[in-house]
Amino acid sequence: MPAMPAPVISPRRKTRKIKVGDLYVGGDAPVSVQSMTTTKTHDINATLQQIAELTAAGCDIVRVACPTQDDADALPAIATKSNIPVIADIHFQPKYVFAAIEAGCAAVRVNPGNIKKFDDQVKEIAQAAKDHGTSIRIGVNAGSLDKRLLEKYGKPTPEALVESAVWEASLFEEHGFHDFKISVKHNDPVVMVRAYEMLSERGDWPLHLGVTEAGPAFQGTIKSATAFGALLSQGIGDTIRVSLSAPPVEEVKVGIQILQALNLRPRKLEIVSCPSCGRAQVDVYELAEKVTAGLEGMEVPLRVAVMGCVVNGPGEAREADLGVASGNGKGQIFVKGEVIKTVPERDIVETLIEEAMKIAETMEPVEGASPEVIAAS
Ligand code: SF4
Repeated sequence: MPAMPAPVISPRRKTRKIKVGDLYVGGDAPVSVQSMTTTKTHDINATLQQIAELTAAGCDIVRVACPTQDDADALPAIATKSNIPVIADIHFQPKYVFAAIEAGCAAVRVNPGNIKKFDDQVKEIAQAAKDHGTSIRIGVNAGSLDKRLLEKYGKPTPEALVESAVWEASLFEEHGFHDFKISVKHNDPVVMVRAYEMLSERGDWPLHLGVTEAGPAFQGTIKSATAFGALLSQGIGDTIRVSLSAPPVEEVKVGIQILQALNLRPRKLEIVSCPSCGRAQVDVYELAEKVTAGLEGMEVPLRVAVMGCVVNGPGEAREADLGVASGNGKGQIFVKGEVIKTVPERDIVETLIEEAMKIAETMEPVEGASPEVIAAS
């Protein structure tokens, strides 16, 4: 019997499905995880190396900056050699929008707030994108909101962000172009959540979620998880990018964890560990860290419980595929609810890893963990 899909808080809102290279975004396509390279795009080798690292970490779509002609010149090689769809990120210079489309990028992110005379060029951009099968992201950002709207609203309110996005969307649609997604980013999760809620009521555009300039890893993770959680739990959001002042691989890890926590992506390895307290009879932090490190990269949905004492230890360990309930310098090892042995504390990590490997061999790797790939025609 096929496994039942894991329950989600709310069903996904129905959005239009667009192509981003060989992936779909929107509609019934799984929510994808994006990140952005930090290399100089014109350094093709360094950029491709970072894209390979992001791909290995589970990134679905990557964005690269394109501030100079040298960067634009590097786009064809990067778009061809990357194993995941490449989106060119364009600000200020409209000529790079066309360069990126012609370079074969899967999509182009345009910032209507700072591209010169953007509205006058939508027709040509739409035509070029249509001719090349390129999709567009209308990326409205609080920090670079259209001056007209800034004057009207006084600051980048949710209403201002949404008005900008809806206006630009209407221009593309007037020219018969529908292969675009929208983002309305703000650094304040409360404003950002409200903006996306309002935007999702205005049309069926696929939405790219992001809290812009979310901050260093710890703060940015909390802000993104809070905001994305609020939206995804209402079914809003088709692709996400966690922005951190940290290496981009960290953004991908956080993005995947957010989706897994909401059952929007099948869970792989899950460590259930207690926070420890005055009753703990082993060093739970060290145990949990060592077990996590020892099982990193596991592709099966294994649940491992690492518990500090007998209060909740046996219960959680019994519920997991594998677990340890510690006490008196020893660890009771549980496999599928049964105690299989008791080992001294110094052998707990090694025993758990050994048993995890044995169980993993009997499990199927997680399927459907990544967005649907469009079959090559
Ligand atoms: S399992 Fe034991 S050590 Fe861990 S938090 Fe609960 S009571 Fe404390």
